[in-house]
Amino acid sequence: MKQGFEVFLSDKSPLKEKYRDELLRRNISFEEGSHDESRILSADLVIKSPGIPEKAPLIAALRNKNIPVISEIEFAARFTNATKVCITGSNGKTTTTLLTYHILKNAGLNVGLGGNVGKSFAWQVAEQEFDYYVLELSSFQLDGMYDFKAEIAILTNITPDHLDRYEYEFQKYIDSKFRILQNQTADDCFIFFADDPVIQAEMQKRKIPARLFPYTLSEKLPFGDQGAFTHGESFTVHINQNNTLTMKMTELALQGRHNLGNSMAAGIASRILELRKEIVRDSLENFENVEHRLEFVSKVNGINFINDSKATNVNSTWYALESMKTPTIWIAGGQDKGNDYSELQELVRNKVKAIVCLTKDSAKIRKAFSKDVDTIIDVETAEQAVRVSYELSREGDTVLLSPACASFDLFENYEDRGRQFKAAVRRL
Ligand code: ADP
Repeated sequence: MKQGFEVFLSDKSPLKEKYRDELLRRNISFEEGSHDESRILSADLVIKSPGIPEKAPLIAALRNKNIPVISEIEFAARFTNATKVCITGSNGKTTTTLLTYHILKNAGLNVGLGGNVGKSFAWQVAEQEFDYYVLELSSFQLDGMYDFKAEIAILTNITPDHLDRYEYEFQKYIDSKFRILQNQTADDCFIFFADDPVIQAEMQKRKIPARLFPYTLSEKLPFGDQGAFTHGESFTVHINQNNTLTMKMTELALQGRHNLGNSMAAGIASRILELRKEIVRDSLENFENVEHRLEFVSKVNGINFINDSKATNVNSTWYALESMKTPTIWIAGGQDKGNDYSELQELVRNKVKAIVCLTKDSAKIRKAFSKDVDTIIDVETAEQAVRVSYELSREGDTVLLSPACASFDLFENYEDRGRQFKAAVRRL
């Protein structure tokens, strides 16, 4: 509207009241509950929600008519000159995004937070005048991006996820993630997790013009001396001789191996922007963790309850199980996205004493782990999951909700699943 566009919003589902009110207040025409095809097919430009798959008939019809379909991020970026720090990866996006935003904000930069978290990027570009943005980008958003450029791109890892949207071809998903590098030049920066075999293999195949800043949990940096690496109990972020930062791992607010990587990535981005060492250090120390990500809920009669509802794929559950230090009752399952559970087998064998399947269909989980775990129980509500887990556990055990699956078979979304879990724990 601000740019003079004639705007029409179409949502196949009912709109939330606050959005309907906003549209009415701004005099924007809209429809809900269905799509008016002829109206949509007469558009000059369509901005698609990342949740709508490419194979939806309406999208196919738009493609047929050569009507450009882009993501909101692509659209909004056309109207700002701000520096954009963009984070993608299969896991760790939100954590790394919030951590990076936290540091930039503490350093006093005029910075907005957008993409999958925070407010709409387009709304902020229209209504605010930020000099910097930290944006969390999913592969679906990246698929709708063409001319967009991230001045600083972060890639946290690539493991199979959402394969249902990529015709079950892992390479297509990898290509989508690497779109984060689109349009970058030698002036731009690429921060990436160097220990990830998929990223390593893909980098061999590509010529990447950007400045490379790998981070590794090992002591050796690939590609020269820029990036972040560990030594003993510490790690160092090295940009150049005058720009290094060393910290003890124990000082980090976010503990666990995966979070060390996330802290390194955020630390590199901040030091590329030449933010003060003390501020970066303090921010990495005082960051508060986000809900549903290995979130400690409560201790009930000596049993720890942990909410990791955001673990919607196998890799994030791998990290959760890996970080368990006590015998674990594992609440798993949900909507399967083409999961391969074999990676979890060893951890499950060593740490899990019972599996509580919170799903409508536990067949795949049962098949994967029946030889490793004697007790596998099916439930269909968070309340039952918590009760059964509580009965199965003893003092000193941990009950971990880390489903490795999407939540949509039984819950509205992963937040709903996590909140119901927490509420049930509090009722024990
Ligand atoms: P995303 O936004 O990519 O889904 P989150 O930061 O929300 O990532 O974390 C999702 C899940 O993955 C959580 O269970 C978290 O503990 C785990 N996780 C966080 N960072 C990483 C990482 N770098 N590698 C693997 N797992 C991670």
